Amino acid sequence: MADTKAKEAKISVKVIIDKVNRRVVYAEADHTFVDILFSFMTLPLGTIARILGKHNDQKFEALGNLKNLYQSLENFPECYLSTEECKHMLLNPRSLSYDHCRNLKLQIDDTEPLIYFQCAACAGYSCQSMYSTCTKAKCGNCGKLMNQEVPYQKPKVCVGSGSVFVSERATFIVTDDLCVMPYTSANSIRLLTGLGITDKSCLEDLMLDMGREQIVNLLKVALSLDAVFTYLVFNRVVPGQSSILHQTDMKKEESATPKMRLEVSLQKSTGKLLFVEAEEDFVDFLFSVLSIPLGTVIGELLKGASSVTCIDNIFKSVSNMSVGRRHLKSHDIKDMLLKPHIGQQYSSRHQFFPLSCTPLCWRDCFHKDPRIDNGLLKQSGLFIVTDDLIVTPSSSYSTLNTLNDLKVPFDDIEKYETSIGLIEGLRMLKASLRSRSTLTDSLNLDILIK
Ligand SMILES: [Zn+2]
Repeated sequence: MADTKAKEAKISVKVIIDKVNRRVVYAEADHTFVDILFSFMTLPLGTIARILGKHNDQKFEALGNLKNLYQSLENFPECYLSTEECKHMLLNPRSLSYDHCRNLKLQIDDTEPLIYFQCAACAGYSCQSMYSTCTKAKCGNCGKLMNQEVPYQKPKVCVGSGSVFVSERATFIVTDDLCVMPYTSANSIRLLTGLGITDKSCLEDLMLDMGREQIVNLLKVALSLDAVFTYLVFNRVVPGQSSILHQTDMKKEESATPKMRLEVSLQKSTGKLLFVEAEEDFVDFLFSVLSIPLGTVIGELLKGASSVTCIDNIFKSVSNMSVGRRHLKSHDIKDMLLKPHIGQQYSSRHQFFPLSCTPLCWRDCFHKDPRIDNGLLKQSGLFIVTDDLIVTPSSSYSTLNTLNDLKVPFDDIEKYETSIGLIEGLRMLKASLRSRSTLTDSLNLDILIK
């Protein structure tokens, strides 16, 4: 009930506009808006891909190739996954902050709260302590479907006061590129003079009323453009940095990272990457990326430089904000936003990012592990991954289909071999947020071996 209410809720943000230059100078908002903005950090990439995929306003594309990856998982034959519940779990990822975020005034995350199931046949016997969060799981004891709902009080995380992440009493300034700071007249004047505005005559206030659709749109704009409010108010795109993908050098401790082997197909006549063929380890890695929360991607993995300006700015704002009366509510809250945790069952032994995964809640200790041997996919042959991250099981049919879609004649292909590790994985993650050709932008095509 509360969730429906949160879906219909509206929040208001005051924007200060520069009438002459048709741009938004900054927005003034209370905790309801800043809480939602900060909550973006807790959303797993797969959740963002799903929310944006359902969004009605398709005027422009956002989120690079992650939407294709999510769609591929939706269409992926279940028989290749370790268990049937793996797919359900990966399509509905949730971070450890999920319950906490149910307290937001307005919900954009449409992931259903967890329901626990057990095996009806074995209830009361040895496997009663095994739960699943999906009706497709099979009992480890008798092999029957675990589809009996376990009566369970859904956790209500108490946030102490009306706000979720930031102080209820404070007013905040949010810049056009989503830097968030406490409201002070000094901050306000600094922003105005920074834009060359010296008097009040060209300024005007405007109230933006936002419901769920508008916030989803704001997330989409934030993932693509540098001047979010200006776009929302004036429907005008201000050119910015976000149009360029910066693949900065990622010199990481490559140490014990396992390498994965890929066979790369290039178009002979153009040198263009067409697709790669890989074993289940690479697909396992790609699908598990969908469970990683945005804050973890930006902070722990990409060190604050995802090249998506607004999202980097939200992360930086949380990171720079102190804890206290007019700021973030506590250090735990700050950690929750900067390093949102991932449930253990989402991790795969093929996921080579250095992330720690924890059980989602106490019931996870009794949660039937949907993985086999810590893998999300079975050992099951070869897969085709296109440059824009469409993943399909490999067969002569799918290869011919892919070539047909790309309009490449069969004799215009050359095959090379390459192996990838942590650095390529990170480059791929970064590219997947923006790029329409993730593999070309993340693999070093100059060093391929024939
Ligand atoms: Zn059973």
